[in-house]
Amino acid sequence: MLLDLYIYPHPILSKVAEPVTEFNKELKTLVEDMAETMYEGLGVGLAAPQVGISKRLFIVDTSTQEEPSTLKVYINPKIILKDDPVVWNEGCLSLPGLYRDVNTFAHVIIEAQDADGNTFREEARELRAVALLHEYSHLDGSVFIDRLAPIKRSLVKKHWAKNVYKSTEKTYKDTKLHCVFE
Ligand SMILES: [Zn+2]
Repeated sequence: MLLDLYIYPHPILSKVAEPVTEFNKELKTLVEDMAETMYEGLGVGLAAPQVGISKRLFIVDTSTQEEPSTLKVYINPKIILKDDPVVWNEGCLSLPGLYRDVNTFAHVIIEAQDADGNTFREEARELRAVALLHEYSHLDGSVFIDRLAPIKRSLVKKHWAKNVYKSTEKTYKDTKLHCVFE
């Protein structure tokens, strides 16, 4: 089932999300629905707050269409290491149409639980590392433009509010994805 996509600056996107405590069927359904929603929006990652659920989980699939899926769910994740500072052109399903170069890291070690509650570790580089950190920051109530320098950030926020936000509202009217604006 496609889920509603919450668009910046919806307040749920700036809340610190709550830990997941129950590993039940409902959680697995949520993960499946999040995956469907992410693929429909052509994203490489999606965090629960972006679909209106303030819980600490996200999914990532950094494979291209020709490659086998690398879809994985990360529940109650912890960043164990971030290394190799890099500038990356990031975008976000909650800020559709907006891409900016921001500071991030190209080497990450993450620890998280899977949908059954089992703990695992993953070492990631390049796009995978960037996507993991991007999604992780959604759980702490932050979006990628928060990583811009203050002056740039306020310009981008103005540009977003004035130009992109309104056109997003129009663009998504006739698509399968339903966007929640406020
Ligand atoms: Zn995002």
